[in-house]
Amino acid sequence: MRYVSTRGSAPHVGFVDAVLGGLAPDGGLYVPQTWPKFSATEIAGFAGKPYAEVAAKVIGAFADGEIAAADLREMCHEAYSTFTHSAVVPLVQLAPEVFLAELFHGPSLAFKDVAMQILARLYDHLLGGQGRTQTILCATSGDTGGAAVEAFRGRKNVKVVALFPEGRISEVQRRFMTTATESNVACVAVRGSFDDCQAIVKAAFQDESLRQAVDLSGVNSINFARIAAQAVYYFTTAAALGAPQRKISFAVPSGNFGDAFAGYVAHRMGLPVERILVATNANDILAQTFETGRYVRGKVHPTMSPAMDIQSASNFERLYFEGVDREATDTARAFTAFAEAGAIDVPPKAYAAMRELFRGASASEDDTARAMVSTLNETGQLVDPHTAVALSALSRAKGLKGPVVVMSTAHPAKFPEAVAKACGVTPALPRGAADLAGRPERFDRLPAEADTIKAYVRAFSEG
Ligand SMILES: *Cc1c(COP(=O)(O)O)cnc(C)c1O
Repeated sequence: MRYVSTRGSAPHVGFVDAVLGGLAPDGGLYVPQTWPKFSATEIAGFAGKPYAEVAAKVIGAFADGEIAAADLREMCHEAYSTFTHSAVVPLVQLAPEVFLAELFHGPSLAFKDVAMQILARLYDHLLGGQGRTQTILCATSGDTGGAAVEAFRGRKNVKVVALFPEGRISEVQRRFMTTATESNVACVAVRGSFDDCQAIVKAAFQDESLRQAVDLSGVNSINFARIAAQAVYYFTTAAALGAPQRKISFAVPSGNFGDAFAGYVAHRMGLPVERILVATNANDILAQTFETGRYVRGKVHPTMSPAMDIQSASNFERLYFEGVDREATDTARAFTAFAEAGAIDVPPKAYAAMRELFRGASASEDDTARAMVSTLNETGQLVDPHTAVALSALSRAKGLKGPVVVMSTAHPAKFPEAVAKACGVTPALPRGAADLAGRPERFDRLPAEADTIKAYVRAFSEG
């Protein structure tokens, strides 16, 4: 299986290089040249199988022999044994046709663990095979950093530097990063905003000499392995509810569009999907796109669902590429224009193709709080603000038929202030994380200066 860039001018690569490379050298995103397919019998067979077994099958279809099947199975088993629920992604019923897929039973209590736990093992395995050590640099507005640190801590062939904006993330989010004791992890509180952190990461990646010296890599949601790993729970949840005989819909709290795009991927691989409802908070660029056909960047509004406070959904480029029948020149032109002007029109034919599967809806802060309260009142279930955005969007979406799986992307205890404010109940951290507040923290403080942080990364990587 070869991987091509959505912008068409990067060499085709195999799965291993697409994973270790992250972004394609022409600025595009990698997608497989053709979508692997599962038969109806294979999909029906996913029902009731251990999660790790389905993960090995789905990810294996993309790795296409580049990783030995036995190695991949072992990595999947290890990755998903870090989850505290034996079903890994259990379904909880909220109403006759509404189900929550709880994606938050991993070590950092957010859905990013599902992909990051396997990604870290893939990296370590592939780098070890090549005798390489890489340094992963990531900027986090909250959940990615914690998931990355939890997944990469103690790995032999990878070092991690996580940058977060000082004082702008929750204490629970910070502690998931800063309480790691392993020497391959460094956390940096940057005196600036998340945008400053991201700009510094970008500057580091553009510094060729640093890139070479520390073998710099990223694990943000454009990495194709993360998409492949996220397609897995679309299969397991749908099969549990009767797919492929029944068509299932999904409601997905969305920011960078990695999660919802993984649903599209599962659909292309043969899963019958009725609809994917892309749910956003006040940062509604994506919801608007699916309702109007225009992709327009706005100003970022801080909300109580901060993992979705995003105004440019990187993975949308992959869907656009499919929508224009993989016209890479058109895609490159559109996303260069978007970077410059902050707005593009989706061509009518591509928009029509997107509307066959996708709908968009957004939730205000009031809507989100109301959804947390009504869910608690009607079902006794506490949900986090990201999940509440999807539940609220779902309550307003018209014409969704049949069973709906709502992606529940964070444990309510990860956002205790917002939950307590809406519901009057402070959610408890699950066992295993209960002592988080008492663990010693370790992090450095640096100014938001690219040169200072680049020097820090170099010293940490070489030290
Ligand atoms: C990252 C994240 C999202 C958004 O997922 P995307 O793949 O970026 O669309 C939603 N909820 C939570 C809790 C997250 O951490």
